[in-house]
Formats: sequence, structure tokens, C-alpha cells
Amino acid sequence: MSNEISFTTSTIHTGRNKRVCKNAVNPVIQRASSLVFDTLADKKEATINRAKGGLFYGRRGTLTHFALQELMCELEGGEGCYFYPCGAAAVSNAILSFVKTGDHVLITGAAYEPTQELCNTLLKKMGIATTFYAPLITGEKIADLVQPNTTVLFLEAPSSLTMEVPDIPAIVQAVRKVNPEIVIMIDNTWSAGVFFKALDFGIDISIQAGTKYLVGHSDTMIGTAVANARCWEQLRENSYLMGQMVDADTAYMTARGIRTLLVRLKQHQESSIKVAKWLLEQPEVKTVYHPALPSCPGHQYFQRDFTGSSGLFSFELNKKLSQQELENFMDHFKIFTMAYSWGGFESLILHNQPEEIARIRPNIERKLTGTLIRVHIGLEDVNDLIADLKAGFERLK
Ligand SMILES: *Cc1c(COP(=O)(O)O)cnc(C)c1O
Repeated sequence: MSNEISFTTSTIHTGRNKRVCKNAVNPVIQRASSLVFDTLADKKEATINRAKGGLFYGRRGTLTHFALQELMCELEGGEGCYFYPCGAAAVSNAILSFVKTGDHVLITGAAYEPTQELCNTLLKKMGIATTFYAPLITGEKIADLVQPNTTVLFLEAPSSLTMEVPDIPAIVQAVRKVNPEIVIMIDNTWSAGVFFKALDFGIDISIQAGTKYLVGHSDTMIGTAVANARCWEQLRENSYLMGQMVDADTAYMTARGIRTLLVRLKQHQESSIKVAKWLLEQPEVKTVYHPALPSCPGHQYFQRDFTGSSGLFSFELNKKLSQQELENFMDHFKIFTMAYSWGGFESLILHNQPEEIARIRPNIERKLTGTLIRVHIGLEDVNDLIADLKAGFERLK
């Protein structure tokens, strides 16, 4: 869309041209494996344009996919967007598209756990070495970790569970200075590609578990990777070879979710900050790790580099709860429910004991002593959510 239209308006209107909508408001759901050609000339033309939004074969996408691709490129400011069946597939395929045996990758040691596991298992088996760096590492220190065979730098902001916000510009600039060829990627799921414009910070590929905020209704899984011009072709062609694709219904549901993304995020932001501030005042709470609050490690970088916050954060209790206390606390919420995913309209809660955090976060300096609770603040009335948490603390007395 034109530059004169605001970002908010373009998330409503992009990807809805006549070609893909056929006079409806939303794109058609074009379910297709075969796309048929009338003439040899048509077939030849489609083959030439197969990676450029032409109808060629189902695995290269249909009109429904092209509509979502246009929308995602608008959202994240990229050259192209590839789709995967889930966020984990987006992470693994993005990394695998840029590594070979003998390479070395730098990955935040506070990444989403399956991302770390990928490095420890599959990459290791392929002879690709990983260095996990501390999420709050300085530019100087990460430059020292770059090796002659380093090909990928992988960031996640904020960290899963422990929520550190890294100094992204310092890390990116330092690594580029040592070797400008290194492909830099970020798991940008938390910001939904809205509050952190990864590609504007010199990052090559912004990855999302679209499962979370893009879909927004906890009923579909998709992974997205938006790449800049330098990396788009390699990402696209390697992902294609690895057979990555989503069906047209999933693409449709994701585009539909994005139409309300900005208003949903506004509410997630407002309510989560309100709950986080309330939590800070509770005697049972040691501290709150919400990027928008000064008590979150890296808050100063959040303030500088992000334009807002979403609904996911964590807080540490004053003590480690016993199994009985945990059951008293977690099993009786009226609104919060327990689930591993997040980003839908509903509020969720999960816990991790300090020893589990110590095991999966060996290279963060902060040592947790109390039980860590992660919440996703949904779109319910925030006062009901606070009352629900308050009743939980009462059950600990
Ligand atoms: C959920 C999540 C993923 C994985 O997404 P799926 O769609 O569940 O595979 C990746 N990264 C982060 C940060 C996530 O929260």
C-alpha cells in the first residue's frame, strides 16, 4: 500500500486486491494442489513466475497464500514471507536454510526450548557447532564469540520465560563488524512483528510462531519467516526443497487474525501492564519480569527499541512453592487456565520451579530462588483477572 497510509490502516487493507478477493472483502480460500494451464504458453509463463506470485503448483501457494504473503511483508517490512506448519518449523527451516556441515551458529541461551534442542540434537548430528550466549551479552563480548565458520546469529527478544530484553543493535552491529555475511535471525513472536521492527534493525529474517498473536484465537498453527532482499531467495528455495507449506484454510485464518491484531495487542498491552503493576505490590511476589517495567532485565533496551508490549510476562514468587502449595495455587483459578501455547484471546498461566530454570538457562547470571509463574493476559476484564490471581495468593496463606 502507499506510504501515505498509516501502518494501522494498511494492516486492514493490504492483501485484499481484486485478484485475490474476487469481489468479497476477504481473499478467496483457494484449495489447490493442481493448478491447471490451458496452453503450453500458459504453462511456460507459470513456470517462469513460480516463485513470484504466479499460480504454478499448490506447494508454491495459491491466491490465499499470496494475499497473506503481501500482508506479512507489509507488517514486517520484508521482501518475502515463507509459511511453515508451525513456529518450530519456521525456526528450524530458517536455520537449516543457511548452514552446512562444519559451520558454527550463535544462539541465545535463553531461546524457546525446542530451538535450543534443535541445536543440541539435529545440528550437532550434522556437524554444526552451537555457542549459546547470555541474552544480556554486550557487543564486545559477542564479537569475541564469532568464529571464522560462524554463519548464523539467532536472537530472541524478549527471552522465553525469563524475559530478558537483549541489546539488539549492539549485538547486530558487533557481529556484522566481524563478518557482514553472517545471517541474523530473530524469533520475534512476542512482539508479533508489530512492536519490534526487526528488519529495520539490520536483522535479515524475522520469525514468528503465527500460532500465537497472528492467528490470535488459539485454533490454528502456522510459522512465518519474513526475509529481506539479501536472504529471501535462499530462504524460499531451501524451505521449498524441505517441503514446507500450509494449507489455504490456515493462510486464510491467519490473514483474518491479522485484521484485528493491532486492536487486540492494544488491549493485551494495557491489561498486562495493569496486572504486572498490581503483582509488583503483592507481598507474595519477589519481582515481575515484564519488559515494560524497570524490574525486567534489559528494560532500558526495551524502552529504546520497542514501541509497545504484548500480553506475556512472568513473575517470581518470594519462595519456591511445595507441590501441595503449587496445587493449591494453580488448580483452582476461575479464569486462568494452564496451557503451553499463548497469544489467543484467553488468559493462561504456567509455572516453572527455580531448578528447572537453572537447568534450561545455564548462562544467565540471575539465579531464581522462587517459583516462576508465566502468565498470558487475555482480553477478559482485567479486574476479573486480578481478582482471580488475588484468590490464588489467598490460597497460599
Ligand atoms: C510457541 C513458540 C514457538 C513455537 O511455535 P509453534 O507454532 O507452537 O510451533 C516458537 N517460538 C516462541 C517464542 C514461541 O513462544
